Amino acid sequence: DSSLTQIRALIRAVADFPKAGVVFRDITPLLADAGGFARCVDALAEPWQGSGVQAVCGIESRGFIFGAALAQKLHAGFVPLRKPNKLPPPVVAVDYALEYGVDRLEARNDALRVGERALIVDDVLATGGTVAAARALVEKLGAQLVGASVVIELAALQGRARWQDDAPLHALLRY
Ligand code: 5GP
Repeated sequence: DSSLTQIRALIRAVADFPKAGVVFRDITPLLADAGGFARCVDALAEPWQGSGVQAVCGIESRGFIFGAALAQKLHAGFVPLRKPNKLPPPVVAVDYALEYGVDRLEARNDALRVGERALIVDDVLATGGTVAAARALVEKLGAQLVGASVVIELAALQGRARWQDDAPLHALLRY
């Protein structure tokens, strides 16, 4: 599809960042392009039109950018899922493993209502740990998970294997 081809052309591959051997996918040229960013948000929204999403949960920090725009498009609210110690208490947290060490996502304990229809958004699915933690957090809050969307899936890292596919996980682009 030509729109996805244009979006793909606006993502820059940066070799050896943040460390040697890693190819980082830089989405900032996409954000800076008015038409490309708009087409990207349209494409993210497309599978969820009519699915009754009430809250878009964006993962800090690039998930905030796509998630806030997507929330507007879907006429939904926006809920930030944040790195530790950014939100005032009371918070609900989920810890998850990184390659070296652990990380944590937090949300306000009343950020989602019980049964509220929630969609998770991030820029990149890599090993899948971040999106899986976001899902656990949404479920801990008692919301109803509708699914997740990412702009980019790094297929070689097999993050999708960590996603229980009773809810859809959509990726615009695969590398
Ligand atoms: P995972 O938990 O799936 O291994 O890593 C996903 C998280 O790391 C996402 O929040 C994403 O923003 C970040 N990430 C990992 N690799 C990349 C990359 O190549 N480009 C960008 N923009 N983010 C990445």
